[in-house]
Amino acid sequence: MGRNIENLPHALENAGGLDRRLGGGKRPAVFLDYDGTLTPIVDRPEEAIISESMREAVERLARRCTVCVVSGRDRTVVQELMGLDDLIVAGSHGFDIWSPDEGTIQHDAGGGFDNLVDEVKTRLEEEIGPFQGASVEPKKTSVAVHYRLVSEEERPRIKQIVGNLLAERSEDLKVTPGKMVYEIQPKIEWDKGKAVLYLLEALDLDRDDVVPVYVGDDVTDEDAFEALAGRGLGIFVGHADAPEVAGRTTSADYVLHTTEEVERFLDTLAR
Ligand SMILES: [Mg+2]
Repeated sequence: MGRNIENLPHALENAGGLDRRLGGGKRPAVFLDYDGTLTPIVDRPEEAIISESMREAVERLARRCTVCVVSGRDRTVVQELMGLDDLIVAGSHGFDIWSPDEGTIQHDAGGGFDNLVDEVKTRLEEEIGPFQGASVEPKKTSVAVHYRLVSEEERPRIKQIVGNLLAERSEDLKVTPGKMVYEIQPKIEWDKGKAVLYLLEALDLDRDDVVPVYVGDDVTDEDAFEALAGRGLGIFVGHADAPEVAGRTTSADYVLHTTEEVERFLDTLAR
């Protein structure tokens, strides 16, 4: 899976290829990692200060198209570091999203699991139903099995039913045991890839005339590169021969070697 970083075409030296992807009346929506992408990597994270010229480049681009900073840091920290309050910022790996127009963008990370929750509910009602005192409580994003009123002798069987379900669906489901209750929930995973796809939808950018462009350097950015593979552009930031990159492969389409190159790249997008 993925390509060797040394084989990636350079984003500035292959402007033709990029133009083809971005041409034809299409517009980019640009997602930017912060550390290592907009700032050089530093030993202490609080010293990862964005340069004035990079800040201006981001600002210029934000006047032309949607720009969103997606970081593993807390959203407010990113906003403070960026020093710009007119950008969309997704902190905590995209979990905490804020836009200047809408403020905090609510997203129900448990959404999209209605069918699974339904299926779990139906099955548990069937299997738990015969046990006196047991009850199945469907919730929005989970199903609770209460067994407080079930006799001591029968409780192990409730446990077994839940255990069997979990064993069968270990990829999709997790259980949180509570006080005389098993709470069965979809396994929700959130990463920068899911965040970018969510943002595209939330910002009404999930359209044929928009080309999502994601620029990042971290392993966590690979989720975004993968999410955009085939529909957008992934730009990996780094040197193939840097120690932190050694042995890595990437799902990105292009490479930029330094933050200076990122800055020049943002300027080419802003043209
Ligand atoms: Mg980074």
